[in-house]
Amino acid sequence: MKVAKVVVDVAVSAIDSLFDYEIPKQLQQVVKPGVRVIIPFGPRKVMGFVIEVTDFSHFDKLKKIDSVMDYEPVLTRELLDLSKWLQQETLCFRVSALQAMLPAVFKAKYEKEVWLITEEDQLPFEWQMFTQGREVFPFEELESAGIKAKEISKFVEEQLIEIKYVVKGKNKVKTDTYVERMVEEVKLIEQLDELGKQAKKQRNVIEYLLDHDKPLRLKELMQHVDVTRAPIKSLEKKGLIKLVQKEIYRDPHQANHELTKPLPLTSEQQNVINPVIDQINQIKHEMFLLHGVTGSGKTEVYLQSIDRVLQDDKEAIVLVPEIALTPQMVTRFKSRFGDDVAVLHSGLSTGEKYDEWRKIHRKEVKVVVGARSAIFAPFENIGIIIIDEEHETTYKQEDYPKYHAREVAKYRGKYHQCPVILGSATPTLESYARAQKGVYQLLELTERVNEQALPDMKIIDMRKELEKGNRTMFSDALVEKINDRIKRKEQVVLMLNRRGYSTFVMCRECGETVQCQHCDISMTYHRTNHKLKCHYCNEEQAMPNQCPECESEAIRFFGTGTQKVEEALKEHFEQARIIRMDVDTTSRKGAHERLLKKFGNQEADILLGTQMIAKGLDFENVTLVGVIAADAILHLPDFRASEKSFQLLTQVSGRAGRHELPGEVIVQTYTPEHYTVKLAAQYDFEGFFKREMQVRKRFLYPPYYFLVLINISHENHVKAVEVSQKIANLLSEQLGETVQLMGPSPSPMLRIKDRFRYQLMIKYKSRTDVDKPLENVLNTFQKEINREDLQLTVDFEPYYFM
Ligand code: ADP
Ligand code: ZN
Ligand code: ZN
Repeated sequence: MKVAKVVVDVAVSAIDSLFDYEIPKQLQQVVKPGVRVIIPFGPRKVMGFVIEVTDFSHFDKLKKIDSVMDYEPVLTRELLDLSKWLQQETLCFRVSALQAMLPAVFKAKYEKEVWLITEEDQLPFEWQMFTQGREVFPFEELESAGIKAKEISKFVEEQLIEIKYVVKGKNKVKTDTYVERMVEEVKLIEQLDELGKQAKKQRNVIEYLLDHDKPLRLKELMQHVDVTRAPIKSLEKKGLIKLVQKEIYRDPHQANHELTKPLPLTSEQQNVINPVIDQINQIKHEMFLLHGVTGSGKTEVYLQSIDRVLQDDKEAIVLVPEIALTPQMVTRFKSRFGDDVAVLHSGLSTGEKYDEWRKIHRKEVKVVVGARSAIFAPFENIGIIIIDEEHETTYKQEDYPKYHAREVAKYRGKYHQCPVILGSATPTLESYARAQKGVYQLLELTERVNEQALPDMKIIDMRKELEKGNRTMFSDALVEKINDRIKRKEQVVLMLNRRGYSTFVMCRECGETVQCQHCDISMTYHRTNHKLKCHYCNEEQAMPNQCPECESEAIRFFGTGTQKVEEALKEHFEQARIIRMDVDTTSRKGAHERLLKKFGNQEADILLGTQMIAKGLDFENVTLVGVIAADAILHLPDFRASEKSFQLLTQVSGRAGRHELPGEVIVQTYTPEHYTVKLAAQYDFEGFFKREMQVRKRFLYPPYYFLVLINISHENHVKAVEVSQKIANLLSEQLGETVQLMGPSPSPMLRIKDRFRYQLMIKYKSRTDVDKPLENVLNTFQKEINREDLQLTVDFEPYYFM
């Protein structure tokens, strides 16, 4: 008997193990590891992933697999094993881990279609009866005709047919009409003579066909020969050509890129790439941290490392934070590697993602450039993995499985014995500390390629502006410089970094913010009871009427919207053309690219935006960058607030003076003496690292301790508090002395969508200290999670504390 071990698509932890199912005879050739099947589960039919196939089961009576969903595996052995590791690493359901590796089309409702890959006459006779000249037909017809799964799977393997998924309603596999020649060349030439003078258009078409060997797109033909459909139809009637439907890939990044050649490397770049190439040659795994200032040529290093890998006929994965925000990055990879590149990111439609994934699955491409989930690209021969802007928080998934792409990259790098490069101008403290300890190999690029100095960063003390009587959001210096740029027809980037919904309180006269005494993070203002609260340790205090430092009454909440800034800009600079980029103006598909293109064409003087404009933009005419309020992120209730501010200031300043024209940066702040602002202005990463590490050490934060955040929410406030307390009790009984348990405390946003939210945080040194207690908690509350609408999540390496 053949037995399949299956992960069932039912999210209940008690049954989150492998289930044995008998494989019926007629499915034995089809059911392989990585194939999805339909199986009976209780009274229902559910989907499952086949993990293994064996000849043996410990159980007597097995239920049978009902049918298969895939005729070839959608997941490789490596990815199946990786899902197990992800489950353990993030304490998620195995099925969530498996689903996270596949594009959404596999989750949506879909229909199957059969596509012929060969000529019809290659198929057995009974199939030809059945295809009836069609190149595509619904899969159902095969089933109702009683064609056996075994046979279907054999044809798939022999590449006679392919089974494709079509999302119901929309997102079909996309097709276009092509013109194919039906006769020999001589026949066509004969026809040229036979056609009379009146048939000039038809003759033109034939001449064009004679010049072009390949099947042509109908649209293209009509355009080039400048004809309507009529002459083409006439030629089809004569049997000279045939119009056929062919599948085309949706390519959101089409455009013909001119291919670029590798640039001769600078000596710094050469020094940095050598150890990487060594590892590639020796087929060894190593984690590299490439620390290079903005514009130091990191991307060129990536490109040439990949080039080396492609020579060995291996594959490369490149992760970038959010492609929608950085279309220029995609262009650089497409321009170097052309059609070898697939692009995967959240801005694509379900159908587009499926198309890109299929290119990878069929090994039609060698390089994938994508956001977080591209780390699961089903390549089988990976030669390098690159994570650009490694400090970006988008690499951490906030839904289950709550994985960090960096850790997955490490796993796959080990598996394939290939190097992993983490690149950034401002690495995370965690990564830089690992590099200091030699866990990662540190590679450094200290100079910009064009030898342009980094733009000069000026800090403007907004308290002094207030003293002078300037009550606007723009300092005199900023106004003067913007005016200057408008006159010189150069461009300005203005950033307003507003993040999250929480508000902090700050004195506008002395810049003092109210901090928690125990946690060194900003207290959060809670509107409901008009109090300040620390959401780490739950300390509470009344909202002050005066600044505790200078006794001024100008103490208030902070936060301004981009829209308000835009209005103010229009008042100040009447003749300026402004583009605003924020969630409102960029919600439509492709809006980012359109707005950036407009700015790139110099159709605007000022680009105003949230932090989404800080990344990766490269416009040669930008010579001034302004940061409206550096404090807005510096005082978020998050122990990473300083680190994030440093990163953001460095990144946004990197947008100025990237080419010939020198750049300048103006940073407005109420706390100019803050070490983060000061050190960022000096581009002193090393100094910032040392200073910030002291804080982390003192308050037991990463990289000295690991964190795990437990979020609890329920519609009933009392219930939420009760459960949180119970969990805290359970944990404190089971956690050892070396571990710190904090909370429970209300989340900064106590109520979202009518659910009350609480959190607990654990600081620990070793996973073995927390794994068992956390698993116990999850198991204890599983029933309530399923039946009583309790939400309980465990988040390792948390980034989001709201
Ligand atoms: P980073 O990724 O570190 O910000 P980039 O790779 O974007 O830096 O490089 C900055 C600029 O320098 C780009 O315009 C790039 O084309 C150019 N560049 C990079 N390496 C070289 C090189 N070896 N020779 C000439 N120009 C280079
Ligand atoms: Zn004050
Ligand atoms: Zn606190």
